[in-house]
Amino acid sequence: MSHESLFLHAYDVNGGKVYFHSLTLDLFNSPEECPSPEREQELLASYRRKAGENSGIIMGCMFLTTRCSRSCGYCFLSGVPPGDMTSSEIDAGLDLMGKGPADLLLYGGEPFLRPDLVLHVINRIRSSGAGINLSTATGGVPVDPSLARELAAEDTFIIVSIDGPPAVHNSARPLRGGGNSFEDAERAFHIFRDAGCRVGISVTVTEKSIATVRGDFKWLMERFQPDDMGLNPWLHPLKGGRANPLQATGPGILKAVTSCMELAIDRGMYIEQLARRVRPFVRRTPRLKDCASAGGRLVQVPGGIAGTCDCMTVCGDHGVSLEKTGELDDLLTRFRDLSPVNFPDCLSCPALALCGGGCRYDAYHASGVLNGSRSERCSYEREFLRWMIEKSVRQGRESLIPAGGFDTVAMPMPVGTMIGEEQAVVD
Ligand code: SF4
Ligand code: SF4
Repeated sequence: MSHESLFLHAYDVNGGKVYFHSLTLDLFNSPEECPSPEREQELLASYRRKAGENSGIIMGCMFLTTRCSRSCGYCFLSGVPPGDMTSSEIDAGLDLMGKGPADLLLYGGEPFLRPDLVLHVINRIRSSGAGINLSTATGGVPVDPSLARELAAEDTFIIVSIDGPPAVHNSARPLRGGGNSFEDAERAFHIFRDAGCRVGISVTVTEKSIATVRGDFKWLMERFQPDDMGLNPWLHPLKGGRANPLQATGPGILKAVTSCMELAIDRGMYIEQLARRVRPFVRRTPRLKDCASAGGRLVQVPGGIAGTCDCMTVCGDHGVSLEKTGELDDLLTRFRDLSPVNFPDCLSCPALALCGGGCRYDAYHASGVLNGSRSERCSYEREFLRWMIEKSVRQGRESLIPAGGFDTVAMPMPVGTMIGEEQAVVD
């Protein structure tokens, strides 16, 4: 017997109707197959319990420096004063992270402007024996191959930001004082790869690059054959909530992303941001949070300030002194319930158990509240879900899995990206 369910959503596909259930992530041919109201409430309650669980710090992020050799037009650090962390701040953060398992991202700015601090982190992790998976982001600056080998010995995952072929990349990520920024990025990629690191490429999509992104993405994939790729069309607002001047808008975002996704599926390329939607949809394992900032992330910025969201902390918002561990605990607890399953306005959204709430910083600036939403991102999430549903009905859910699968790609699943996904829907 069907009932008026908040969680059942009808789609027209191939001239027929299919029904998607936002809690079970099932597709039905008839609304009669909808689970009972009791079952729905039971599932919702279990998701809420799961979202509120304290799993400790599963991800760290250290802004080793906020200085950079580039001046990218979309960088959220615009207006943030330059500064570097100290080795004692690093030690204090690693102490808080404990024995793991956890992921730690070395970030900036350009973290390799402080190779001594990178080496300090490696040595501390080694001597403590903590189960911490290291990754670092870089735009590419000269790096000593011996440091690259130290990172390889720790099985570090290196993310090099490259937005496309030289003309595209150099206009988006110019070097301060001039020069060829693409060449620096390419050199860095090869230094790390030759040293034995796993190396991925992160592509930022802007209003200027969106028209050519599919071709640029393909070019990067073929030229570098990276171990994984990132594709980010959602730019953070700048300090104080100022709109990002290079944010792309309109339906072109979905078109650009899905065209790259089709390529990635075909070539067996793993794209983390997309896998975060496709993996839970295909496996029917709800994604309750999109980012570990919702209560499981420790962010550190120069000056001994800590928080749980990268952009908030570095922009001077929702940060506390690293030494005030009680205040830090309170902050993490306050963020822990930030999941769409707890947001009244999200309950009727088909992406309820798939979007994880997206980026809390972006939503906060768009709505004024931590549990708000960014409407254009939400529209995109719903359209991406429609794309997955249509592809599944026509070709089966497996058609969304990259050739080779999610588990066989070079990038092991980071601890901090599986937020809430380990809870399968139990029939
Ligand atoms: S909430 Fe957004 S800005 Fe903050 S850490 Fe997560 S993705 Fe980054
Ligand atoms: S897409 Fe937006 S409205 Fe829908 S569940 Fe996610 S945050 Fe809520």
